[in-house]
Amino acid sequence: MESEAIIRFVLKAPSKSGCYVRKVVIDDDTTTPARLKEDKGKKKSKGRLPKHLAGILCLADHAHRKRTWRGRYYKIANVSRKKSMLTNGHAKKMGIDIGHWLYQVKSKNLHEIQELADVPLRHWCGDHSKCDDSWCVSKKIATEGKVDNQKPLFDMSYELDRMTVERVRKEQDEFTTPKRLKEINHEFSTQLNESLNMAIGRGAPKYKHFSRSQSIYYRIAHVIITHNLGIARFVHRLFNLLNITPTTVLVSGRGSVVKQSARKRRSGCGRKKVPTSIKTSKISQ
Ligand SMILES: [Zn+2]
Repeated sequence: MESEAIIRFVLKAPSKSGCYVRKVVIDDDTTTPARLKEDKGKKKSKGRLPKHLAGILCLADHAHRKRTWRGRYYKIANVSRKKSMLTNGHAKKMGIDIGHWLYQVKSKNLHEIQELADVPLRHWCGDHSKCDDSWCVSKKIATEGKVDNQKPLFDMSYELDRMTVERVRKEQDEFTTPKRLKEINHEFSTQLNESLNMAIGRGAPKYKHFSRSQSIYYRIAHVIITHNLGIARFVHRLFNLLNITPTTVLVSGRGSVVKQSARKRRSGCGRKKVPTSIKTSKISQ
């Protein structure tokens, strides 16, 4: 979905605004970086850009990196109880810590990030020397000179905990290679784009809109067309364009959609009005 949008943007930016794209912040996927390379005309090559626009640095969206990383811990939480002591609750908490750590390191230089790469695992094992007191409670307590009575997540005196730590370390190593740490070394945010996507999603939800590759381009077009023409006229024009006669089911379906839209407009944006009697009965319970 987003790779197509980025390609179009990179291709059009020089002529539209005189800008050249050198860095993009994207979700953790393999398709987009492959497409942002030079198109050498070979069959196996996925590159889509001319030489003078290629060579774009792909950075990772911190929120998405956190979700991908946390997903690995959920997987560990789902293995046998004999092989791992992690629960879904632990994985959720560890994901929050990863988010804090990403925030702690994103503005530092690459060398410093590499130095701090093992902070989350150290934190879970009870070593808070490199943690930041903005998110680590134990570090904050130590800074204030008080006694920390909190138990670490992993107690290395237990065999099961040591086995779990090995699994966690294996996953961590995958996310802390120099290449992947370089991807998080930026302070850009994609929250504005997420908001735009959410706004588009209200009109054309991703899971209900079945266009080619679920592209955001088609979803945006869909929202604009239905906004300008209305659903009924849009469907009518679409069928005329395709030279198809609508079946009875579609015509009746369209009729029900039109009626539904009119009903929603009358009742105010489709929100169900809760009768006062139900509200009061819920409160009294
Ligand atoms: Zn800590």
